[in-house]
Amino acid sequence: MAAPPAAARNGLERCIGCSLCAAACPARCLRVVPAANTEENRHSPGERYAEVYEINLLRCIFCGYCEEACPTNAMVLRETFELADSIPEDMIFTKERLTVPLSRALEEAEAVRIRNLS
Ligand code: SF4
Ligand code: SF4
Repeated sequence: MAAPPAAARNGLERCIGCSLCAAACPARCLRVVPAANTEENRHSPGERYAEVYEINLLRCIFCGYCEEACPTNAMVLRETFELADSIPEDMIFTKERLTVPLSRALEEAEAVRIRNLS
């Protein structure tokens, strides 16, 4: 399962709303609506952020092209791919459902670091 926009170490979203992932997606299942960052309302380090980010997982073929296209490593394919739901709308994953909170991202990075030591 794809999971953008992950939180960067500074707590901002990594996604800069560039839509390269959507352009690379052969299944046309990504929808990105960018908006401008301002000093009062900053979401990402860049000029823009993704105000709307959606993946229709009914159409995703888990090819990984979106992950390869992303210039900020915001898009990360995870090991969860056996998904099912009886309500089609619930298979559209929104930014709110996809974003990894900074605390969890740090915990996961620490777990990987420890695993690599052993
Ligand atoms: S994994 Fe492939 S099909 Fe799924 S969102 Fe990414 S580019 Fe599109
Ligand atoms: S390619 Fe990466 S940074 Fe650009 S919109 Fe997609 S997830 Fe965000």
